[in-house]
Amino acid sequence: MHVMASNRASAGNLLLGALSSEDRQRLTGGQTPVDLRLSETLSEPGDRVRHVYFPIDGFISLITPGIGRAQLEIGLVGNEGMLGVPLLLGVNVSPLRALVQGAGRAWRIDAATFMRELEGSATMRAALNRYLFVFLSQLMQTATCTRFHLVEPRLARWLLMTRDRAHSNDFHVTHEFLAYMLGVRRVGVTSAASALQRRKLIRYSRGDVSILDARGLERTACACYAIDKKIYSRILAKKNLPSRPEAAREMGAKLLAAKIATAISC
Ligand SMILES: [Zn+2]
Repeated sequence: MHVMASNRASAGNLLLGALSSEDRQRLTGGQTPVDLRLSETLSEPGDRVRHVYFPIDGFISLITPGIGRAQLEIGLVGNEGMLGVPLLLGVNVSPLRALVQGAGRAWRIDAATFMRELEGSATMRAALNRYLFVFLSQLMQTATCTRFHLVEPRLARWLLMTRDRAHSNDFHVTHEFLAYMLGVRRVGVTSAASALQRRKLIRYSRGDVSILDARGLERTACACYAIDKKIYSRILAKKNLPSRPEAAREMGAKLLAAKIATAISC
């Protein structure tokens, strides 16, 4: 009875859904989803990673430490992914601030249990390492996006990413979050949001966003949105990466992740 309930509910997270039922049961068996509360901080930079989260219908914003108020959102984790990827590299320190941007539920597994199950299953490591590759690719894409793409297409991209994780065309996102998303001042957010509104692509009022024309917004978004989605479906659907990562490659990924995080926030 319990196993059936657990398997059914875990399909709410696509990454857990990509695991074998045995691996999924290793992680979620005996667990019940927890609530993610809006604006809840799940980790601060430098914190020990205490839990891994697999969102079901909530979503989490990943923000670089920055200096003072200069912060930048570099990723969003919804039911396509997980929070806690440093553990996949054997590192138990969080490099980023993780803030709940959409309330909902998530599977939460404590770090020690997660590490033990990861060590005990080569198939689980292989599947989650594929996600790690996707995660790093998305960070690289965001570095390019922040440097080269204009604010309006970037806003369109992040609104679509948020829509995908909120599973709704209507969601709440504050002006402050939009400024984090884009790494610009609030006045820059106002002007980009007004431009999208004038073109009847969105309605935006006091943080309440309604996407009125998703196709139009996709045409307005920079290419990064489509590239992210393509990488995700290509790597996680076809499972076409080698299944036994070598220590050298893991170390390379660790250095790469650190370099990307620095490049994005400097
Ligand atoms: Zn872009």
